[in-house]
Amino acid sequence: MMDLVINPSADTWKNLLSRPTDQKVDLEAKVSSMLRDLKGTGWSEVCRLTRQFDGYDPDPALISQQELEEASDLLPKELKNAIALAARNIRKFHEQQIRHEPPVEVMEGVTCYRRSLPIERVGLYVPGGTAPLFSTVLMLAIPAALAGCRTVVLCSPGNRKGIIHPAILYAANLCGVTNVFRLGGVQAVASMAYGLGPVPAVDKVFGPGNSWVTMAKTLVSRDQVAIDMPAGPSEVAVIADQWSNPTFIAADLLSQAEHGPDSQVILFTTDLQLAKTVKQETLAQLEQLPRADIARNALKYSQIVVLRDYDTLMAMVNQYAPEHLIISTKNYRDLAGMVTNAGSVFLGSLTPESAGDYASGTNHTLPTSGYARQMGGLSVEAFTRMVTFQEITAGGLEQIGTAIQVMARAEGLEGHARAVEIRMNSETSQPEGLEDSDEIADPKLKVAKRVRPNILSLVPYSSARDEYSGREGIFLDANENPNDNGLNRYPDPRQRELRQQVALRFGSEPDQVFVGNGSDEAIDLLIRIFCEPRQSRMLTLSPSYGMYAVAAQIQDVGVDAFLLNDDFTLDEDRLLAVAGQDTQIIFLCSPNNPTGNQIPLTQIENVARKFAGIVVVDEAYADFATGSSAIRLIKKYPNLVILRTFSKAWGLAAARVGMAFADPFIISLLDKVKYPYNISSPAANEILQKLKQDPSTVDQSVREIIDQREWLREQLGVKPCVKTVYPSEGNFLLVKVIDARTMYQYLSDRHIIVRDRSKQPLCDNCLRITVGTAEENQRLLDALEAFSQPDSAGQHPNDTQTTEN
Ligand code: PMP
Repeated sequence: MMDLVINPSADTWKNLLSRPTDQKVDLEAKVSSMLRDLKGTGWSEVCRLTRQFDGYDPDPALISQQELEEASDLLPKELKNAIALAARNIRKFHEQQIRHEPPVEVMEGVTCYRRSLPIERVGLYVPGGTAPLFSTVLMLAIPAALAGCRTVVLCSPGNRKGIIHPAILYAANLCGVTNVFRLGGVQAVASMAYGLGPVPAVDKVFGPGNSWVTMAKTLVSRDQVAIDMPAGPSEVAVIADQWSNPTFIAADLLSQAEHGPDSQVILFTTDLQLAKTVKQETLAQLEQLPRADIARNALKYSQIVVLRDYDTLMAMVNQYAPEHLIISTKNYRDLAGMVTNAGSVFLGSLTPESAGDYASGTNHTLPTSGYARQMGGLSVEAFTRMVTFQEITAGGLEQIGTAIQVMARAEGLEGHARAVEIRMNSETSQPEGLEDSDEIADPKLKVAKRVRPNILSLVPYSSARDEYSGREGIFLDANENPNDNGLNRYPDPRQRELRQQVALRFGSEPDQVFVGNGSDEAIDLLIRIFCEPRQSRMLTLSPSYGMYAVAAQIQDVGVDAFLLNDDFTLDEDRLLAVAGQDTQIIFLCSPNNPTGNQIPLTQIENVARKFAGIVVVDEAYADFATGSSAIRLIKKYPNLVILRTFSKAWGLAAARVGMAFADPFIISLLDKVKYPYNISSPAANEILQKLKQDPSTVDQSVREIIDQREWLREQLGVKPCVKTVYPSEGNFLLVKVIDARTMYQYLSDRHIIVRDRSKQPLCDNCLRITVGTAEENQRLLDALEAFSQPDSAGQHPNDTQTTEN
């Protein structure tokens, strides 16, 4: 037991490092015949084998939701808390493994990208046996959930009464696994691979198991399904030196040895004295271990190897390719750099392997039996496949078409060559009257590179009204009520008339218009289209309209707030310098809410030209501004989006209609992700009516508001309680007062409600006051006339009256 081997020559290593399983009898024939019977006979054979090997009848095999939930009552709180902590760490670590690759324009007009798609149906095997491995549930089910697998099946053997340990059920329920079956062994693997009885068939089987289970997985993988890896008995290699703590090392060796009688533990050291101490300490600690019998058996296959230097030692460790490698030497970081083959590495004397087995966050499903030479441990990627997508423009086809044809013909595959030739000769491959110049290829590509791949490849929902666009007929296609009451039919999902009228009024083309449920909808959809949750970032001005940041946070997109200058102007060069690689969208608001100033078009152009991502200019208040709109710039900048709304100047806030103006490509993306009927007919009709009116009606009302704004600004400016009224291009004024909180309260006690913006950056003691009607504005001024400052104790003279109200 734990033989001491000193300076073995390299030609003996292979033999010394052989795994216990290497000598085991071949199970292949037995398991193969079992699988044949299981596949042929089906569920009754699953039941028979379960009765024979596990001692219970598995029918009904599916664990009910009630049983899953009740498992919680059977566990101590302490254990549930520990499982929750481990689950959190595992989720946090594995979340990082969700892969996103940006599209690559391999040549001009040839764009390729990969998308990670979840494997639809996966099966998780969780051994029961001598230890209830509920930690394995977390290690398998969390990555499966993060990957987005649609069907997750879990099989675990019950005890002699067919009862699965409650900790396994609790962990499964915690991870959202509902398909739990009390099945173990070869028959469980066959049930998942072939879809026997109530067990759904899966595409890939995961999880550890004894040699029978492992053999079954290997055999079904030749036939029907994929498997994670050929899991064998657990193993650990520990590297230690004279500075290592022999008590810790002994505990690490035993922690692995207790797994199973065929587990293997090996100590590699450069220090003979340490080797001897560890052996003594291991044998002493062994006696205290509840699973001493199992560990004692495992120690039979284990050894202590003493080597003269670290180079030789690392060469031997790398040849062994251990599942777990603990490096407990003083120079552990140097040795970590020399690792070439290992499943999971534990660094320093305070990092036991148990940490990775349970709770540090790394996966404990690792390659054993030397497979660490070719594969890594389980990860989210194992539950996904990378699928390639490509899109070629006319210009792109020009670039690569000839090469494809030459290669295809050289391989004698004329059909392949013709598939290219036919396209290159076709008239539709070139837009009429235009060369395939930068101006055509670029707009789409510059923006396309920024689009989330899942949105690029998304096939949008096709509604009944999308599929039929004629006018006449009996409409039996959308499950509407046929009785006409003016509202019984779904509205036009393409909003053709609305877009036409909007385009006419705002100076764009209909295909440059998106109409949404308020401009807020466009804000939300733009983030959905361009920002990867947990990965992308956005830049907003600070202070600015708060919805940009909230919409981003809802989608787990990072927000960087860019502080305006003290006078609220924008330093756009500094803004551009702050935009990082991950910054997908810059939100500008002009006139800005709440500061009221407009951003000059030259600055907007500068940002649109220099920033490679999307630039959104929210012009909700542009109707009140003197400077011109940026809408006309969308032809020049394919990454520019202008937002407008009917909620402000147009007096139609209740209709909830807003717009985005942009290059037709961005509009097509917005249309792809919107709800099919996002604008109700009454709202559309209201807007259409207003759009068809003489423009002077709206202009007149806007002029009145502007006049009121300027008058109010003057009047407020002379009030003693007001420090500054900032100039505004909107329908509101930002007003710095002496004490915003008191003033807000004072006004609200008099039923005049303004917006306290004093918590916003640069807005200390600022209130934002919307310009009301002449009468409302006068009431505001009258109320302020009566306002006097709080005394030194902070008490307002009018407070008595306030509390009496
Ligand atoms: N943008 C800005 C700058 C706003 O201030 C507001 C609303 N206060 C909106 C957009 C929202 O407009 P809508 O009503 O069109 O959703």
